Amino acid sequence: MRADIGTSQMTDPKKPAPIYVTQPLLPPLEEFIPYLEQIWENKWLTNSGPFHAQFEQALCDYLNVKHLALFTNGTLALVTALQALRITGEVITTPYSFVATAHSLLWNGIKPVFVDIDPVTLNLDPARIEAAITPQTTAILPVHCYGHPCDVERIQKIADNYGLKVIYDAAHAFGVQGQDGSLPMHGDLSVLSFHATKVFNTFEGGAIVCPDAKTKRHVDHLKNFGFVDEVTVVAPGINGKMSEINAAFGLLQLKGIDAAIQKRKVIDARYREALAGVKGIHCLSGAGEKVANYAYFPILVQPEYPLSRDALYQLMQDHGIYARRYFYPLISDFPMYRGMPSAAHANLPVAKKMAEQVICLPIYPALSGEQVDFIAALIAS
Ligand SMILES: *Cc1c(COP(=O)(O)O)cnc(C)c1O
Repeated sequence: MRADIGTSQMTDPKKPAPIYVTQPLLPPLEEFIPYLEQIWENKWLTNSGPFHAQFEQALCDYLNVKHLALFTNGTLALVTALQALRITGEVITTPYSFVATAHSLLWNGIKPVFVDIDPVTLNLDPARIEAAITPQTTAILPVHCYGHPCDVERIQKIADNYGLKVIYDAAHAFGVQGQDGSLPMHGDLSVLSFHATKVFNTFEGGAIVCPDAKTKRHVDHLKNFGFVDEVTVVAPGINGKMSEINAAFGLLQLKGIDAAIQKRKVIDARYREALAGVKGIHCLSGAGEKVANYAYFPILVQPEYPLSRDALYQLMQDHGIYARRYFYPLISDFPMYRGMPSAAHANLPVAKKMAEQVICLPIYPALSGEQVDFIAALIAS
């Protein structure tokens, strides 16, 4: 999920400013200064400082979970989550995600086994999981794609039947509530990302949601080189700690997150209304979540639409609209994966079709109604 942050455009007074797929949520700068002053005052920069403790508690409260460990980013949190549960062998996952999902498996010497997605939710299709299980399978790594919940009940039932762990990549799902409450409480562990391009950001950051205090303690050791005290190292841990600056920033960001999601909701509704009658454009909707986060606005460009997906994508760029084809190419089409038997297109027909049709339209709190109308009108014309 990388936006084109930092791409500078030639400024042309006749041309409107470019619109990117996202723009990071930022609080007023002056509100951050007191936090910085406090850090300069107490000189505690990292290693479980006061802001780290406060932010963990505030996030638990906001997300309605009991235990959570902060990380420097979502990818290291994924890598560490797999270590924490000692996952080995083969893991069933989706090809339709950001590449970090499968990379976290390779970094652990685990073989990803790609399973096709559901055509409605674009999440891992539970009906196809069992056929991919082998004696080497130890876990399932699904993604709540676009913040739309996976079929958590069916996935858990399969995991229970076969004695598998479930680790959710919940990088898109900040603040989402499923039918039975907070989404990241599902699975053995859930991993969040607070990258600049996500609904909630700490510049870089991430977290592992843990089911109990013991697991959190273990994860906390792993993210700090395996230290449990000054002289005791119990595991080959990594440095995955979140710094005080990021934690302090996260505390401030939490104050604005509800208003930001509310603005996303309004934009989402405006797109849906404007695109409702456009032949060949299908707006993906949620997966029955009780509270959504409107993280992305994915549309499918279907054969009835007069232009191909890529032609529409190019037309939008010609008008200064930098939408993104999330998720194209599929993870399974990257060189380190495509030789694997499960990466064959014949095994992933739905994912392949969706990757060829999808465009994520710009959505972020500062996007104006006029900009939404401009983008929708271009698509409709
Ligand atoms: C962003 C993202 C990640 C990686 O998170 P970082 O914080 O950028 O390391 C992992 N999985 C998915 C699905 C993502 O979108």
